[in-house]
Amino acid sequence: MLELRHVDSFYGSIQALRDVSMRVEQGEIISLIGANGAGKTTTLMSICGVVPPRSGEILFEGKPIQELSTDQIVALGISQVPEGRLIFPGLTVTENLDMGAFLRRDRAGIKRDQEYIYELFPILSSRRRQFGGTLSGGEQQMLAISRALMARPRLLLLDEPSLGLAPLIIRQIFEIIEKINKESNTTIFLVEQNANQALKVAHRGYVMENGRITMSDVAAHLLENEDVKKAYLGL
Ligand code: ATP
Repeated sequence: MLELRHVDSFYGSIQALRDVSMRVEQGEIISLIGANGAGKTTTLMSICGVVPPRSGEILFEGKPIQELSTDQIVALGISQVPEGRLIFPGLTVTENLDMGAFLRRDRAGIKRDQEYIYELFPILSSRRRQFGGTLSGGEQQMLAISRALMARPRLLLLDEPSLGLAPLIIRQIFEIIEKINKESNTTIFLVEQNANQALKVAHRGYVMENGRITMSDVAAHLLENEDVKKAYLGL
């Protein structure tokens, strides 16, 4: 579904991605793990056109997208939930969801998807008329994921969904990520510092160090890998 081929990305003269090649198949959950500053966020930014690669190719469903604008990439069916859950604090929960559906015209479908989201996150349902800015961190993360889902993406990009959340909430968020993948067959590309949780829900994983992919394998194998255990699982 998505393929990065030898991608190099820069911030001015600083090279953040070096020869990055990755593959995401339809229906998979892929986790990209790595330390602070490894280049994980930049990978997502390159996919969605915010930091376009200087060389290499990014293919979505076989077509090159590395020269498209972010709007065009979103319209192809790729949605991103950025780090820090940038919801609209002055809009209600329902209004935030409406913003996620701004490219859609199918009113009945939008309504149906909203109801699905309120089933997925009952806590958001009970806070429909509350302003986004008054929600807890975990609820805001749920809202940010929900808003991205309202665009009915075929590929959902999640940047550090567990950041700054309590363990119980983190577990809930990862359960929902698995549920979204299974129930709506949404392909998910997850970037995480919480390697343990991220690899537990993923089918396959990639490890990034200093802008390069240094390992890739079935997620269950990475969880058992001694180097991964030492560097990322605190074992
Ligand atoms: P984190 O988990 O801290 O977000 P990350 O793995 O997502 O880390 P990136 O944010 O992709 O890492 O950063 C990769 C490299 O690019 C780092 O060295 C970082 O300092 C640099 N970088 C990121 N954003 C910019 C920017 N806007 N301008 C210059 N350099 C940047």
